Amino acid sequence: MPDECWRGELARTIRTETDLAARVRLDEREREGIRSAGERYPWRITPYYAGLMDPDDPACPIRRQAIPAPEELHDPLGTRDPIGEEPRSPAPNLIRLYRDRVAWCVTAACPVNCRFCFRKRLVASPDAGDYSAAARREALEYIARTPEIRDVLVTGGDPLMLPDETIADILGSLRAIGHVEIVRIGTRTPVTLPQRITPELCAVLEQHHPLWINTHFNHPKELAPEAVAACARLAAAGIPLGNQSVLLKGINDDVPTMLALVQGLVKVRVRPYYLFQCHLAPGTAHFRTPVETGLAIVSALRGSTTGFAVPTYVVDTPRGKVALSPQTIVERTPDAVVLRCPDGSTWTEPNPR
Ligand SMILES: *Cc1c(COP(=O)(O)O)cnc(C)c1O
Ligand code: SF4
Repeated sequence: MPDECWRGELARTIRTETDLAARVRLDEREREGIRSAGERYPWRITPYYAGLMDPDDPACPIRRQAIPAPEELHDPLGTRDPIGEEPRSPAPNLIRLYRDRVAWCVTAACPVNCRFCFRKRLVASPDAGDYSAAARREALEYIARTPEIRDVLVTGGDPLMLPDETIADILGSLRAIGHVEIVRIGTRTPVTLPQRITPELCAVLEQHHPLWINTHFNHPKELAPEAVAACARLAAAGIPLGNQSVLLKGINDDVPTMLALVQGLVKVRVRPYYLFQCHLAPGTAHFRTPVETGLAIVSALRGSTTGFAVPTYVVDTPRGKVALSPQTIVERTPDAVVLRCPDGSTWTEPNPR
């Protein structure tokens, strides 16, 4: 699979109502969304991702993730920087919320502009910032002179939008810093542009272990043969794969969909890592679910599938990620805890003082 494949996909990216209408039967709501919300929050869709859409069903989970909706213009709670990343930037495009790890946004580009993106202030934005080699050097210098940083999360935008040589340069520079123990990449390309995972890219990545990758599947429909093959190539390069999903109303906020998603992921060696409560990103009110929905889903998964297929449900706050777990302690006595079991019964477990 040569470079031309993914570059060709990007060159043929769908950005107009006419081009999209040639692929799916757009309904009036979508057409209005494209003309209104699509002006406010830019959109783009790879031909590959558009090919996963049901051409006849506007409720298709792929369509809803990628096609602008009029509801995006009605979101009083949405904010530009929902988890307060901007005030925590000690160097260009670097976000340091934790002592030992940083997130490093190396590009503002993505193959598809997800409608629920929490980095809309960067992705496809005119004031996305400076991603020049000079800015990269500044970020690297900060990491190099900060010995507490042991984990660097390379993110964006989508880091794999960069050419292989730039990726090699970034990973090589990080590897050259002795205190950086692990590097991870956050990328949605296996989902939106699986052609990007070329053998050449994998050859670059596997030279920089320990390297971890987190991808972002939200719906079992996204586990198409090309995406599965992309994950297999990454796994064959020895890269442990995780998945971060966003809980999205009407897309994946029910147990059968989430069960199919997590089980489909572990089949292709991708471990469900986080399930995010939808961020307070601008234009996403129509995607947000009650926290109780997320809790009910992870609770149902816990009883009914492989333990490591169950993601941690988190609310991403400006003060860090908060993991939410279904309440399983029913009662405490002086020397025992009463627990709620997966079958609904209770169990009394002795609890040493
Ligand atoms: C999520 C996040 C990380 C990584 O958190 P983990 O829980 O270790 O996956 C690091 N930095 C920032 C700013 C983050 O938002
Ligand atoms: S791939 Fe991630 S960063 Fe890019 S638009 Fe989607 S959610 Fe945002």
